[in-house]
Amino acid sequence: MAATAPRVANTPVLDAERVRRDFPILDRTVNGRPLVYLDSGASSQRPVAVLRAVEEYETHSHANIHRGVHALSQAATEAFEGARERVRRFINARSTKEVIFVRGTTEAINLVAQTYARPRLKAGDEIIVSELEHHANIVPWQMICEQTGATLKVAPINTRGEFLFDEYVKLLSPRTKIVAVAHVSNALGTVLPVKKIVDAAHAQGAVVLVDGAQAVPHSHVDVRALGCDFYAFSGHKLYGPTGIGVLYGREELLQSMPPWQGGGDMILTVSFDKTTYNDLPAKFEAGTPNISGAVGLAAAMDYIESLGLDAIAAHEHRLVELASAELQKIPGIQLIGTAPNKASIVSFVMDGVHPHDLGTILDHEGVAVRTGHHCAMPLMTFLGLPATVRASFAVYNTANDVKSLVSALGKAREVFG
Ligand code: PLP
Repeated sequence: MAATAPRVANTPVLDAERVRRDFPILDRTVNGRPLVYLDSGASSQRPVAVLRAVEEYETHSHANIHRGVHALSQAATEAFEGARERVRRFINARSTKEVIFVRGTTEAINLVAQTYARPRLKAGDEIIVSELEHHANIVPWQMICEQTGATLKVAPINTRGEFLFDEYVKLLSPRTKIVAVAHVSNALGTVLPVKKIVDAAHAQGAVVLVDGAQAVPHSHVDVRALGCDFYAFSGHKLYGPTGIGVLYGREELLQSMPPWQGGGDMILTVSFDKTTYNDLPAKFEAGTPNISGAVGLAAAMDYIESLGLDAIAAHEHRLVELASAELQKIPGIQLIGTAPNKASIVSFVMDGVHPHDLGTILDHEGVAVRTGHHCAMPLMTFLGLPATVRASFAVYNTANDVKSLVSALGKAREVFG
């Protein structure tokens, strides 16, 4: 992924001041100060285009999908299936059969763990994850290990937060059945060499799941170019609604997997003797889905592409560089995660100040950052830290936001001495 580095010298420039006007929430104040939102890694804000698309759907087109002959049901079905085609184009999947709507990244990974891994793995088999994973890409695999007797192996990183590719390759063997790695680390921003990771895993016959939660908002993701078998992401980190996300899976693999949950829509016929299952993607979408969520996600993808992913990546790269340089000038600040290839995230600690206390002071100044272990406790253990402060950047952030962060940190330095 060309995650952060501008691809060419004439990469289109993003007019962040204009973009900000698309996000009404940015006009509000927090604690009497203008909001400086630096927590998009946890959840990004929604542009008017997404808010309106959801409102329009809910106001004029809502009904349940797939089963109705009436006009509204058909309109809702069209909107939902249209959103699936939008997602297919966004990630360059071969077919809409490869796009499964789920609640988010967490559900997507659990789906693969329970329907791909659980029936196949046995004692002696191995699953590899990296040391910097979010809990959503650790715990489901630990559960599979408990359920099947398989073993979890951990591909190491170094203290800069870089994935150690050669060490990972040493872990691969014919015993490796699954490799599950983040595309971009949510705690440090490191971009992992996913294509190389996939190729090396495939050479050993393993399948690869990529947790793309932190990658899709910041750069082009082409699942075919990456060659991955599964790719998971959440709508709410992509300027879309909560409660909607995507599991991409290669059709051949999804065909071979049993259903995830049983219920309406995922069946062809049901009798008390035998139930037959629907074709992809319905086989994995039991029950009424989040229809307006899918509509909002499609609108978010239109919005992002209207800005241009190259322009977004270049803009966020400049902010990461600026924030990294400015933060280092503040006495006692240490950057955590200094890999050369990073996307949109700057993590740091301040000597003698707990990140939560720092986060509270920043909040008083209207600056929203995330503090804590970032759902990556094994990574924090490796780094020897209880927590960090994380500023994460999005299309609507500007150099002024970096200035506000630096000034609020300066105040915190005065408070804590
Ligand atoms: N994976 C990564 C890298 C994340 O950053 C997150 C959320 O922060 C998740 C998985 C879980 O996403 P969700 O809570 O939307 O399922």
